[in-house]
Amino acid sequence: MIMKVTIERTICVSCGSCWETCPGFFEENPDDSFSQVIEKFRSAGNIAKGTAPEDMEACVTDAADVCPVQIITVGHT
Ligand code: SF4
Repeated sequence: MIMKVTIERTICVSCGSCWETCPGFFEENPDDSFSQVIEKFRSAGNIAKGTAPEDMEACVTDAADVCPVQIITVGHT
């Protein structure tokens, strides 16, 4: 199963929790300071969508859990 990840970036409050919890997958966008998926895990180059490898699923799920505005969505397809 593949874990798909989506960040609803427009309502990110740049708290930093996701990239502190899972820095291998999330990072701060240098221009708008919102969270984005790091380049190698992006889906079709979209900074708001990505695919998590199996060994990062726990970390990505933790990041989604700690997001104060709950805008990180994870799901298996
Ligand atoms: S945890 Fe949520 S609000 Fe905080 S930086 Fe990440 S996506 Fe934005």
